[in-house]
Amino acid sequence: MNLRINIDQKEKYEELKYVFENLCVILGFSPVFTNKEYDVYIGNKNDKYCKINLNKDKPKLELFFYLLSGQEEKETKERDVHGRFQPRNSIITKKYKLEDPIINDYALYFKKLFENKGFKAKHFWKNNKKYAVLLTHDVDYAVMNKLPSAIKLFLRFIKSGNMKTLKDIFDVITGKNNYWHFEDYMNLENSKGFRSAFFFATKSNSYLMNFIKRENEVTYNINEKRFKNIIKKLDKEGFEVGLHASYNAYKSINSFVNEKRTLEKLLGSKIHGLRHHYYHFNPQSTEETWECHEKAGFEYDASLAFNEDLGYRRGLAFPFYPYNHEKKKRINLLVFPTSIMDSMLVRKKTTVKDATRRCINLIKSVKKKNGLVVLDWHDADWNTTFLDEVQIKTYINVINYLEKDKEAWVSTPKELAEWWNKRANF
Ligand SMILES: [Zn+2]
Repeated sequence: MNLRINIDQKEKYEELKYVFENLCVILGFSPVFTNKEYDVYIGNKNDKYCKINLNKDKPKLELFFYLLSGQEEKETKERDVHGRFQPRNSIITKKYKLEDPIINDYALYFKKLFENKGFKAKHFWKNNKKYAVLLTHDVDYAVMNKLPSAIKLFLRFIKSGNMKTLKDIFDVITGKNNYWHFEDYMNLENSKGFRSAFFFATKSNSYLMNFIKRENEVTYNINEKRFKNIIKKLDKEGFEVGLHASYNAYKSINSFVNEKRTLEKLLGSKIHGLRHHYYHFNPQSTEETWECHEKAGFEYDASLAFNEDLGYRRGLAFPFYPYNHEKKKRINLLVFPTSIMDSMLVRKKTTVKDATRRCINLIKSVKKKNGLVVLDWHDADWNTTFLDEVQIKTYINVINYLEKDKEAWVSTPKELAEWWNKRANF
């Protein structure tokens, strides 16, 4: 359905256009920008002849733009050691709640307003489900570096005297204790009828080089035969394979092109989307990185999150198009905001019960707002010798919860991109 919109405001025209483009895609309308015959008016006059006058809603539209376009992040200089925007500097942390997406409230407010005037919005999610959940895994580990792992355990043994640790050392050396856990995720998710996406890195460093150069790349080598085999297996069983872009990929568009091409060669078909290792965008300009994604041919990015905390970095739990402030227009790439990562849950000492409760609370509040939840659990979490068992146990609890909730559409990013693009009318 067309929604004819008159933005009668020269100085903020592009900003408001961007807001309406996103709002209309979320609600399933086709926006038509015109100043002749129109349904929606926003401007300086009081046009009483149009169906919907949005002049009193300007503050909502302005906050919508401020958060979604990343203007807030542009205006804030402070970053962490990886150059990332921090939750403590966000208006969302200060005035609202990260887990409770404020911009979804606005989207639903406008939905009601438009529907009261006879403009029927489309269903948000496939099969009329109330909300959507994406299951995703960053492949950071996969292959264990035996020597440093055994040394770590030996130091643990000296400290604790626990004989079981000696057995763990033996298992590390023989390879019984390892980081290869793709099948565990596949079996769990398969048993519930779910599928997920695995993001693989194609660029790596040796453990030693990372240590010497103080770099952060993964240490496995994607060209080993076992990676080709698992990638093929995942694909064959309906799981998605995406790119885990390297730490410094943002520095040049060629990195994205090359990393994507390497993975496509292994997979034998197209890669649809990516997530950055460490959520590491260009520290000065997230949108510049998104421009690179678009040019390299990606359909979606799932790197928008706060590394430290659960919730929504730009206050919106829906897919959206990012904004280019310089060109004053939207970037043709879908952003799926990531809402929960395993390690966010264990920053402070916690229990499986508490971590599960936090996840379910977020899911419930997003469900009320018809939103999107993106889960990000790492490949090796099943190894509880080295990783906190709270992480994998919480994931299993969340998966069990989702299986019972028939109002959840549990899917992969690739499938969501297909669905969202079909709804959009650009
Ligand atoms: Zn990573």
